[in-house]
Order: sequence, then C-alpha cells, then structure tokens
Amino acid sequence: MNSEQSTAPERGDFIREIVAADLREGRVKGVITRFPPEPNGYLHIGHAKAICIDFGVARDFGGRTNLRFDDTNPVKEEQEFIDGIEADVRWLGFDWGKHLYFASNYFDQLYEWAVYLINAGKAYVDDLTADEIREHRGTLTDPGRNSPYRDRSTAENLDLFERMRAGEFPDGARVLRAKIDMAAPNINLRDPVMYRILHASHPRTGDKWCIYPTYDYAHGQSDAIEGITHSLCTLEFEIHRPLYDWFIENLPVPARPHQWEFARLNITYTVLSKRVLKRLVDEHYVRGWDDPRMPTIAGLRRRGFPASGIRDFVTEVGVAKADSTVEMAMFEHVIRDVLNRKALRRFAVLSPLKVVIENYPEGQTEEMDVPNSPENPDAGTRHVEFGRELWIEREDFMEEPLPKFFRLAPGREVRLRSAYFITCKDVVKNSAGEVVELRCTYDPATRGGDSPDGRKPKATLHWLSAANAVLAEVRLYDYLFTRPDPGADGDLFADVNPASETVLQGCMLEPALAATPIGETVQFERLGYFCPDLDSSPERLVFNRTLTLKDGWAKAQARG
Ligand code: ATP
Ligand code: MG
Repeated sequence: MNSEQSTAPERGDFIREIVAADLREGRVKGVITRFPPEPNGYLHIGHAKAICIDFGVARDFGGRTNLRFDDTNPVKEEQEFIDGIEADVRWLGFDWGKHLYFASNYFDQLYEWAVYLINAGKAYVDDLTADEIREHRGTLTDPGRNSPYRDRSTAENLDLFERMRAGEFPDGARVLRAKIDMAAPNINLRDPVMYRILHASHPRTGDKWCIYPTYDYAHGQSDAIEGITHSLCTLEFEIHRPLYDWFIENLPVPARPHQWEFARLNITYTVLSKRVLKRLVDEHYVRGWDDPRMPTIAGLRRRGFPASGIRDFVTEVGVAKADSTVEMAMFEHVIRDVLNRKALRRFAVLSPLKVVIENYPEGQTEEMDVPNSPENPDAGTRHVEFGRELWIEREDFMEEPLPKFFRLAPGREVRLRSAYFITCKDVVKNSAGEVVELRCTYDPATRGGDSPDGRKPKATLHWLSAANAVLAEVRLYDYLFTRPDPGADGDLFADVNPASETVLQGCMLEPALAATPIGETVQFERLGYFCPDLDSSPERLVFNRTLTLKDGWAKAQARG
C-alpha cells in the first residue's frame, strides 16, 4: 500500500495499545489477525472499518492478516459472495498473500472436537425442536430449564451424533449442544447449539456434510487453528466471548486467541446490515449489490468513491469502544477532500441550452487551452474546441434575472471559462414560450478569458462546442433513505427515498470524457464529481454523480 506501508503505529488507539503491550511483555511473539466475513452478501462500509483495523493493526506491528470466510451456513452462502468479498478487500488496498482460509477447511477437526466434548461429558444431542429450545432457554431475568435429553449417556450421544452426520435425520430433528449451564446469567452459556442438521450443498464441501457447526462453535476454534493472536471484532460479540473462551478452555486447541471488541460503524441516512441490504436488492429497491446508492464497497466503488478516501474515512472515525453514528456528511467530506486533490476538471453540460455566437465566423473552430486543475498547474492543460454554436447550462441563464443572479441574462456579459467574454443579445423561444436558443456576441480581444481593458464579468460559465460535444446519460444520486435514522419509526422500508436516483438524458460532455476509464472520478466543472458507470460503453456513455461540490459538513464545522 505504497506510502501507507509504514511499520510505525499511525494511531494510538486502544487496540494498538493492547497489541503493543502484548508484544512488549512477551504474551505474543508476533501479530496475526484475521478478517472473518460470512459469504452471505457483499461487504459494506462497516466491514471496510473492520478490514482497515484488522489489516492495519497487523501491518503496523509487522504481522499479517488472514482472510477467512466463516462459511458455516450453506443455506445463505454463495460463491458469488466469496468472489465479491475477495475483490472488495483487494480493491480497498489490502493483501492476504497466501493466507486465504475457510472455516469449512476445519469441518473435520471441528467434528473431532465435538466428539471430544461428548466424550468429556460436555456436549449432548438434543431432540427438542428449535421452538422448544428457545422456550427452555429462559430470559435475561429468568434462568433456563434443562432439556429432558441433557443427561443422555455418552454412548447414546456418540451414536446419535454419528447418525446425524450420516444423514439419518431430517433438518431440525436434532442438534448437538454444549453442556454448560442453563442458569448462567449470560444466555450464550445456556447450552448453546454447536451443530444443526442442514441437508444443503455447501459451496466448498459439496454434499460431504449434512450437519454444520454454528458460527459460535466454529469461530473461536478457527482462530485457534490459525494461531490468531488478536481476534478483533465488533462489540455485539463481546457477550459471546465467555462462550468462545469456554470452548478454548475445554478443547485441546493449539493456541488461545484473545478476542477484542471495538464499536461498529453506523452512518446516518443508510443501513449497515447485510440482511437489510439483501432485502433492498431482492425486493428491487435498488438494481443490485453494487448499485451506486448502496453503502456496499462495490456500490461505493461504482459510485466513484476512491479506496484511499474510504481508508482515510476509517482512520478519521478512529477505533473506539463506544457505539456511535457518524454523519454521512462527514464521510462525504473526507471523500471530497481526496477527490478535490486528485480529480481532473472537465466540462460537461447536464441540461444544455444552445448559444449561437453571431459574430463568430461560420465554420471556424479554435482549440482553447483549459487547465486540468486550476489549483495545481502541474496537472497541465487540455484542448477544448470552441465554435460558433455552443452549449451552456440552462440554469446559467435567466431571462428576467433575480437580484442575486449574476450569470447570463439579456444584455449581460459573462466569461466563458478559458475562452471569451460573450454578451446575450437576443432570446429565441419555441411556440410554447420556452427559451430554446440564445443569440450572443463575443469579444475577440478576450481570448483565453481575460480582457485587456481589465473588464471583469461577475460570472464565469462552463461551455461546450455543439459541433463536437458527446451525448451521455447522467445519473444523480441522493441518500437511499429519507431520514438520518432509517427505521426509527418501525418500518425501515417505508423510509426508502423514492427520489434517490434521477436519470438525466441528453447531457453533453467534452469528447475526451468518452475515454475516461472505469474507476476514475473527474470533476465536471461547477457541477460536482462524476465517474463513468459500469453500464457505460462507447456507444452509450453513462456517468454517475459521485458527489456534488457542496460540502455541508465543512460548512457546519465552520459555523461551529
Ligand atoms: P451484518 O451485520 O451487516 O450482516 P456481519 O457482522 O454479519 O454483518 P460478517 O461477515 O460476520 O458480517 O462480518 C465480518 C466482520 O466485519 C466481523 O468481524 C464484524 O465484526 C465486522 N463488521 C460487520 N459490520 C460492521 C460494522 N458496521 N462496523 C464495523 N465492523 C463491522
Ligand atoms: Mg453479524
């Protein structure tokens, strides 16, 4: 990760302090972390936080990070998601080298350890239904009750578990449970389920298994097998830690990983939950997991958010132990900061209005030199063709200008960026009374956009030559939800923003934009940041608006 590949801890957050102390005091010899996604959907920006922490902490201490898929539920997991997750982690700028693992690699070992617990009198086969198990579990205030099958003999448990594995019983008929304590204050310790029967094909193990370990049973043991030194995850797993520790203490595992929890990332105006995101996709609120309105890594990438901006955002949010919600405006502010530095400026006219320069010779064209980045002269200039017929933004003209409107109006002179000053002489309307064309004149002495007599028009407009601008569809996006706390009134889906996307046809672009590679975000001058969409082709250009130029966050900070 080039410049960021430092070995010095960049931030003294509580996790890095713990890791530093573990190394200093000899509790660990090196640092191995892992990112453990379940391949039941695409990753979202919350996962990006976890990825940056998992990989970032290991990198800072010269260790490494495993990518391990927690593929314990074949009913919900798919190869498509495995491939998507790998692509997303890579795109974010992280590399697991050869350390790609799957919990399913450990199914044989996990099964052996389950038998070990049965032999030790610490696991049993339960015939209760899922509902009965739930009902026996008790509540936060009431202790649970023992299952009538809890005291089966070891021999009977071994026999039944073996027959569960052999496929003798239908889904849900029996489970294997850890025998811990039905009265434990922590509900996770009330004989949690370790194995359930699922006659389902697994993306990696095929039909070898019809019983699958639960996440709670598989997770800690997988960490132990891989020698994970710091098992980093979000706070909702804190209450599971005593259970993970129980398994580690009661099994002959090769290592004893320690789990540390940090706060989940939440962002206003969106939802970070694969389950909800999947519903948005399945129920066609959006076009797919990579829809540019989605908070998925794939959606953000398609929308034109740079990976470095996402990493900067996670750094900015920091690693804390208290849950909080970050404002979407803050996320956008960080992204704008990156784009402002690296995005090249281009001309585009989203809602074109024709301008005819009456005193510009018919058939003549000129190449105007336009800076690629006004703030950074090193970015050089490009040629943009000027001619007698131009497009300007419809919004940049008012027939009867309001008091603070300084742009083009009848009789008024404005500057066309890096070209000439023009003055509006006449307005052409159609039969419906709509303005369809402006008749203007230009001042040849203002070539390049400056007047020798020091005249300074109050407005500078962007423009394109009508003869060579290229046509495009441009998609504008707004928040996916209408309120900062979607679902706070109960129905999350009622808060989906019906106007989250506006599709503009007939937009005009600088011809060079047709060659913008997918993955590059540019600034359309005065309009915002835009990038070619995956749907774009040479025959049909499609651009996404990544963000507008208006930085609500910076403004709010300035106001204090
Ligand atoms: P979701 O709740 O969206 O379905 P998940 O937690 O079930 O996500 P996993 O694939 O199990 O998804 O998550 C992989 C890792 O990502 C876990 O270690 C989890 O702690 C972390 N993670 C998930 N969501 C967030 C979030 N919003 N902020 C930070 N880390 C997260
Ligand atoms: Mg989860």
